[in-house]
Amino acid sequence: KAKEHGRNCFQFFTSAMHEHAKARSALEGALHRALTNRELYLAYQPIVGQKRLGCEALLRWHNPQLGLVSPADFIPICEELGLIITIGEWVLYQACAQAKSWITQTGQPLFVSVNVSSTQFKRQDIASLVAKVLKETGLAADALTLEITETVLADNSGHIQRQLESLRGMGVGLAIDDFGTGYSSLSYLKRFPLSKLKIDRAFIRDLPEDEEDRALVSAIISMAGQLNLTVIAEGVETQAQLAFLQSLGCDYTQGFLHAKPADAAQFEAFIHSYAEQSDGESKQVTVAR
Ligand code: C2E
Ligand code: MG
Ligand code: MG
Ligand code: MG
Repeated sequence: KAKEHGRNCFQFFTSAMHEHAKARSALEGALHRALTNRELYLAYQPIVGQKRLGCEALLRWHNPQLGLVSPADFIPICEELGLIITIGEWVLYQACAQAKSWITQTGQPLFVSVNVSSTQFKRQDIASLVAKVLKETGLAADALTLEITETVLADNSGHIQRQLESLRGMGVGLAIDDFGTGYSSLSYLKRFPLSKLKIDRAFIRDLPEDEEDRALVSAIISMAGQLNLTVIAEGVETQAQLAFLQSLGCDYTQGFLHAKPADAAQFEAFIHSYAEQSDGESKQVTVAR
């Protein structure tokens, strides 16, 4: 009986796996066509601080059958399929061209932050690509930041180190993303030429009530300051979180409190309302929610 049961279980399992494989290959096919079908676009989310306004470019995929697919779901597949190379190039070019055009049109000194995956760093000469894209779009190197995760830094090959050195040499900003999750190693902060640190939203969520998060965030901000890293808090959703972070001297905040990621036209409206409100003293305003 146990054997019988086992076999049914096995059959069930294989058919579930088969369904899964089918769904997966449909997704893969759709992803291959996404770029040529113009189903990909960038959303922009403001990064707000005392200095210039920034924005993070976030990839979006709207497929007619599947609807809006989350980057958390499709980016890992793009990485496996090697599609992230082509898509990543498109993202970089698009984000730089858009930022350049906003800077020219609005007169605001913006910066744009672009996520780069570990596959892109490993399989590509990112530094040359960035140099080429900056040249073609006319965007200044200091108006671009690349966001990298600890996975990139965990790679010990000299290839990563050299590319990061060369990018910093050009004046491109380098941010460690989702800091504090993953395999945080403080030695990364010493070894690599980083210029920014983004505190993961997991540490921000329960502020200002959670005592441990208060201690951790306060320590990270103070450490970042002493290491000359610009610090950005991710996932800021409430005024109380913002007030707490400002009291610690956090340089920038990003999150739904300021604005959700929005398409280019909406972000352009944000730039205009930001410029108007920051004509006065305070740039700490929350606009265009
Ligand atoms: P990330 O780089 O850490 O981006 C921040 C994520 O937090 C975004 O999710 C953003 O929408 C979300 N977020 C921002 N503010 C808040 C908030 O106040 N509350 C909450 N709950 N969430 C907030 P999104 O857009 O779904 O992107 C997820 C991840 O996908 C990104 O995390 C990034 O790792 C990856 N990703 C997005 N675009 C690209 C891309 O162009 N290339 C690569 N390689 N990865 C990308
Ligand atoms: Mg990011
Ligand atoms: Mg992040
Ligand atoms: Mg994150």
